[in-house]
Amino acid sequence: MSEPCYAPVFERSSFLACLLNAISNVLVLLALLLLIALTFGSQRFICQLRQTLFRMRHCRDGNSDPRIDLNMDAYEWHVHDWRERYGKSAEWEQWMRDNRDRYIHAFNNARSAPDTLVIAFRYDTAPVAYNPPWASEAEHMGVLEAISEGCYIGYEFDFVFNGDTTTSYCNAIAGIPTNHSRTEGKTIYLYYEGIFIHEFGHVIGLPHHYDTDPEYGRGMHMPPGETLCLMDRRGNQLCSACRTALYIPLNVITARQWMLPYAISILVIRTEK
Ligand SMILES: [Zn+2]
Ligand SMILES: [Zn+2]
Repeated sequence: MSEPCYAPVFERSSFLACLLNAISNVLVLLALLLLIALTFGSQRFICQLRQTLFRMRHCRDGNSDPRIDLNMDAYEWHVHDWRERYGKSAEWEQWMRDNRDRYIHAFNNARSAPDTLVIAFRYDTAPVAYNPPWASEAEHMGVLEAISEGCYIGYEFDFVFNGDTTTSYCNAIAGIPTNHSRTEGKTIYLYYEGIFIHEFGHVIGLPHHYDTDPEYGRGMHMPPGETLCLMDRRGNQLCSACRTALYIPLNVITARQWMLPYAISILVIRTEK
């Protein structure tokens, strides 16, 4: 990381003042570009360029925050953007920066994820004897999609029964003999199918909130003020940190959205085995 380059603090201006300012800044920008070229990318001039562009972009609103670092990378920009978009605190943003190592992997995966996440589903050995049985595997796949899309809001899942495991984004193998669901690479081994949404978190790069298995559910490594997360095996929704890493909106934690995947996963747990 380079040295911080803080955004200038300035009052808001009128439309006319901003227009005149933008016109006069064209020369300043050209001069700075020339200086950057002549100095082979001097950080000082790059910073001045960023500050000038920032001032132009925020001319109408002004800026009172002296701590905005214009040298932020993609992760930091995204965290800052999510903070502003969803009204999170400065403390929250700092927490996301401090926990970068935990979330950068998921963040990078989310940015390169395909529009549709194809999940190739199959049974371990024999088909599971569901009670009551699914009308068809299509109905079964539809329920798994509903659970997944209720949790990974904004993502599109396509569960394909006996699908191609090579071209898939992720594979799910249901009906393993012991209650030891796990993820290996992009393949998820399921005893209870309701666990899929937790295991899929690993496929896309989310870590647990706990360090060792007996510590699950204790709310460790949680963003400020939060206690629940699917990756802590508490709740069926992701915390703001996991959501932010995956570009999932933070403003959809309504009672209904909490209950929907919960209800469906209970249904799945009851109807299998
Ligand atoms: Zn896990
Ligand atoms: Zn989380």
